[in-house]
Amino acid sequence: MSEQCLFCRIISGEIPSAKVYEDDEVFAFRDINPQAKVHVLVVPKQHIASAAAIDGSNSALVAKCFEAIAKIARAEGLGNGYRIINNCGQDGGQTVMHLHFHLIGGEKLSEKII
Ligand code: 5GP
Ligand code: ZN
Repeated sequence: MSEQCLFCRIISGEIPSAKVYEDDEVFAFRDINPQAKVHVLVVPKQHIASAAAIDGSNSALVAKCFEAIAKIARAEGLGNGYRIINNCGQDGGQTVMHLHFHLIGGEKLSEKII
């Protein structure tokens, strides 16, 4: 836990959030500024600053995040598809330095970069 980190504080419950999923390693909650009908942030409970800090010591947690994403997508009724986004670092537009995956869907998504 990083005491200054917004998402660590959300995971601990110090800052309230609309939780949609939790297990021993993963926490997921609704984005405060949703970009689609469904916009969930999926984060490892362990503080990892960004995708650039993924290595052999923590990559299993990334796999756990993706297992959770598949479960959440089913629970949210996203059977028609969805998008998973990770912004990494300054050029990638990351604003909260705790690794997170945006799960976006619930409607036809238009702004496709790749
Ligand atoms: P990033 O820009 O780092 O990829 O994504 C950060 C996301 O966190 C943004 O989509 C932003 O709306 C969301 N966010 C920022 N502060 C809060 C908050 O206090 N609560 C929740 N639920 N989401 C937040
Ligand atoms: Zn953190």
